[in-house]
Amino acid sequence: MRNIIFIAPPAAGKGTQSNLLKEHFGYIHISTGDLLRAEIASGSKLGMEVKNIIDIGNLVSDDLMIDIIQNKLTGIKGKPFILDGFPRTLNQAKVLDEILDDDYEVIYLELDKEDAIKRIEGRLTCSCGKSYNLNDEELKPKVTGICDNCGKKLVKRDDDNVEAFIIRYDNFLNNTKVLVDYYNNKNKLHIVDVNRNINDIFNDISRIVAND
Ligand SMILES: [Zn+2]
Repeated sequence: MRNIIFIAPPAAGKGTQSNLLKEHFGYIHISTGDLLRAEIASGSKLGMEVKNIIDIGNLVSDDLMIDIIQNKLTGIKGKPFILDGFPRTLNQAKVLDEILDDDYEVIYLELDKEDAIKRIEGRLTCSCGKSYNLNDEELKPKVTGICDNCGKKLVKRDDDNVEAFIIRYDNFLNNTKVLVDYYNNKNKLHIVDVNRNINDIFNDISRIVAND
């Protein structure tokens, strides 16, 4: 399977697709947020360095982030992986090209703003971790307001308010434009419409990443 760089706006279902790729093809999901937290928790020298940077409110530099990712890639020994949250800048993308030697595809999960907002407005979660969506037939709970899994009452997440979401969505478009152009020019960009059912999306992604 080809390695994947995911570029996706909030609410595009990146987590769901990542889980399917893990289950079906044994992908390793590499999220930069998780990597940084894990590095800090390990108490390593690199982790202490990261903690100091984050504690004073700075961003982790490209060089440091690349070191951390390279460590991780060495650790997974050739298994296919999904990069989530990296690269964020053109400079990172170029360094990544040297590391990966072109062995990747970029998958852009496309969801326009109106459809994304609809998803956010319908989103409900349970304290057991399962999430639902009232605006999606596939993702509705069987009984209104109640978790299929555990029977508890479903709640709306605090960060799912529309104004905050629109800011996150617009930031995403602004921040990723340069990457989208870069990968498009390299013929690495695959646009997948995610305003469809989960299996159709997954089938498209599977075709893109299959080795042939
Ligand atoms: Zn539940």
